[in-house]
Amino acid sequence: MNRPFHPVLEQVSRPAGKTIKLKATHSAVANLHRGHPWLYAERLTEEPSGGSPGDLGVVFDAKGRFVAVGLYDPFSPIRLRALVASKPAAVDRAFFAARLAAALERRRPLLGTDTDGYRMVHGESDGMPGMVIDRYADTAVVKLYTHAWVPHLRDCLESLLALQPLARIVLRLNRALRQNPAPLQGLEDGLILYGEPIAGTLTCLENGLRFEVDPIRGQKTGFFLDQRDNRARVGAMAKGKRVLNAFSYNGGFSLYAARGGAVEVSSLDQSAAALESSVRNFALNRHLPNVARARHLTLQGDAFAVMAELVKRGEIFDLVIIDPPAFAVRRSQVREALKAYGKLAHLGVSLLAPGGDIVLASCSAPVSPEDFRQTMCDAAARAGRPLKQIRETGHALDHPTDFADSRYLKCLFATA
Ligand code: SAH
Repeated sequence: MNRPFHPVLEQVSRPAGKTIKLKATHSAVANLHRGHPWLYAERLTEEPSGGSPGDLGVVFDAKGRFVAVGLYDPFSPIRLRALVASKPAAVDRAFFAARLAAALERRRPLLGTDTDGYRMVHGESDGMPGMVIDRYADTAVVKLYTHAWVPHLRDCLESLLALQPLARIVLRLNRALRQNPAPLQGLEDGLILYGEPIAGTLTCLENGLRFEVDPIRGQKTGFFLDQRDNRARVGAMAKGKRVLNAFSYNGGFSLYAARGGAVEVSSLDQSAAALESSVRNFALNRHLPNVARARHLTLQGDAFAVMAELVKRGEIFDLVIIDPPAFAVRRSQVREALKAYGKLAHLGVSLLAPGGDIVLASCSAPVSPEDFRQTMCDAAARAGRPLKQIRETGHALDHPTDFADSRYLKCLFATA
């Protein structure tokens, strides 16, 4: 197969076929056997020098028995991301092609629907640790979280294109990778690795709603795909309501509420660019009578301050959605994060008409569903508006959660 990849990708070194022999602590070995894919550097008891990102790391236990094979990254605190545990397997181009094929097969229910923006590959939970691939119509956005993928990237992209015709593939890199460019061998954040530059505005469909997507500069890969099912739930409960969508980004929940028959929807975000995008998204969907009819307002500012101001003014909403960014990425941040979630829940119920609905989401991975739920309930009760008829939901099917750390999204629907 000879495809027109970006010349930089053509020049990146290919897999060296080198393996690195690693030994790890007893508990780290047990962890890998249980199927958790991460091996942290501080849990290694033996690590030879000279390994490069993307070499295959083979982990042995103290008795020299095979434990796991995975992608080795000497620059990451997660030194190895396991691909296979307990039984050895050949990790080569065909191996990754099979993983990609399985991931696409999992999303088959979405094909031919009115959703063409979805996650094709969800990292660890699809057996491709440290790699996310999101699809926006005929564009794929590959986001890497480890340098280890660099030498395997071309094989993976050729396999992807053989499975799924695409107009282009955009590369995104997480911050740790952007800060350490040497092992990227010239690959850069936002590079179009395959296909034509993006002409005009790229859009995708989610449950029939059209959204603009900026995969090169947007947050994450351009859109928050993990809330699709929760947005649909909001759409189904919005008829005739006055809605506040806090942390609205480009108006995902707002559009669903409008299409669902909301009378008025306020999108609240601190980012002017995000709000401008939400206005354009409303325009993109004006052919839908309910969207054209709904009044869409934007409120720019800090959500904590703006909501407190709305409470002071005596504003009342029938439906409040609060879906902030992750407040905790580390265990040590959980307490502060819960405090912030509690404040938001307090403000949220204080803005609700009696019997109104509130939707509270958290994408903080270290915050457990139990702690989140308890904090939300306590905060609402303290505001004199205890939560009732609580429903808890998580990710949509394109965000499988096969190991504990991957269940980051929590969403509560309640009445207060
Ligand atoms: N609910 C969105 C995703 C939210 S992402 C969706 O369904 O797609 C988080 C958003 O919160 C970003 O748009 C960011 O600009 C905004 N944000 C972060 N901190 C904020 C703050 N203190 N006040 C208001 N908005 C904030």
